[in-house]
Amino acid sequence: MSKIKYATPIVEMQGDEMTRILWDWIKEILIEPYVELNTEFYDLGLENREKTADQVTVDAANAIKKYHVGVKCATITPNAQRVEEYNLSKMWLSPNGTIRAILDGTVFRAPILVNGMRPYVPTWTKPITIARHAYGDIYKNSEMRVDGPATAELVVSYPDGRVDRQKIADFKGAGVLQGVHNLDASIGSFARSCFNYALSTAQSVWFATKDTISKTYDHRFKDIFAEIYENEYREKFEKAGISYDYTLIDDSVARIVRSNGGFIWALKNYDGDVMSDMVATAYGSLAMMTSVLVSPDGNYEYEAAHGTVTRHYYKHLKGEETSTNSVATIFAWSGALRQRGKSEDNSALIEFADRLEKATLDTISSGYMTKDLVGLFHLDGVTVYPQSSRSFLEKIAERL
Ligand code: NAP
Ligand code: MG
Repeated sequence: MSKIKYATPIVEMQGDEMTRILWDWIKEILIEPYVELNTEFYDLGLENREKTADQVTVDAANAIKKYHVGVKCATITPNAQRVEEYNLSKMWLSPNGTIRAILDGTVFRAPILVNGMRPYVPTWTKPITIARHAYGDIYKNSEMRVDGPATAELVVSYPDGRVDRQKIADFKGAGVLQGVHNLDASIGSFARSCFNYALSTAQSVWFATKDTISKTYDHRFKDIFAEIYENEYREKFEKAGISYDYTLIDDSVARIVRSNGGFIWALKNYDGDVMSDMVATAYGSLAMMTSVLVSPDGNYEYEAAHGTVTRHYYKHLKGEETSTNSVATIFAWSGALRQRGKSEDNSALIEFADRLEKATLDTISSGYMTKDLVGLFHLDGVTVYPQSSRSFLEKIAERL
């Protein structure tokens, strides 16, 4: 059988611990027998980030800008304990944060649904994709404790000397105070990323804020989305048979619970943080959640939503058998291959991505799965056979 080829490299970012092991196995067992991989390889494993003073992360992000498609393995974000464990010269920043800052993207997270794993909300038969704005609001806030009676004001000083002031509150006693901000440019990028992703996946967009209460701040988000939609996207959306809707966040939550899924729920930074945990849990498992970073100028970076699964890695190092779920990492690869297939009109590559996903899901529905899914799975007449990390991949390969 001749292997499937494609022309433009995919940016491949290797990572850490258990997911680093799974990464090599997925390539060996499920991809390389069928696809002649053409990747530009960056080792984002913590040891190489240390060796290159984290330059490798910056280089990888710039390569994604050049080739427009990347696939990333989970990586360690160092904390004090990791600095000691890996003897690091510095507490390097989160690679995802670095890449996000360079690509100026929005993160879309979607659950992977499998026949036999029922979501806690029974009507959610299709995935709900959360698009979370990744800049500003309380994540870049300025907070103060007020320790007694005082007047608090907002003050904005422009370079030409103009000053705008507004009273926040007359404190009758001690209390707390917080300042937050956002930028038109960042909100605009967020809107374009959502609309582009909607077109590329043929799903409608629901955007929600609290503009009835926040009449300037949240209302600005609503206006920017509406303006960009009308001027740049309405026609394309109508042609694709999808829609854009704005609702107040309270109404949105009620509509989401009553819905069947199958759309993109665009949310401000905090709302997206909280609601993505709710949605992931309701669908069953973090190991069944994909994540893709999409930039407004059309760069795509695919990864799993979970981390490096440290506890399993230490078992693996001791020679013990592990049962780590590789589904989200397989879907990161299939997502990247499908996107490359689309960009080159390569139907063989697109079809391979579809077949790889179908073989993975059918393997689970026929009872072969890693241990994390065993308790969540029930299908009448199907016996469950728990698999090791590697034998699960081999079961998928038999079907593929
Ligand atoms: P984690 O790696 O997601 O694992 C937390 C726990 O969730 C695991 O111990 C395991 O539970 C379960 N789990 C997660 N993924 C699984 C999978 N694929 N198969 C089976 N079980 C899975 O999170 P963490 O332990 O908080 O973080 C570990 C490292 O990952 C940290 O250094 C962190 O910085 C990094 N991290 C990276 C990313 C990223 O690159 N995108 C994201 C998050 C965290 P049991 O132990 O009960 O089996
Ligand atoms: Mg969170």
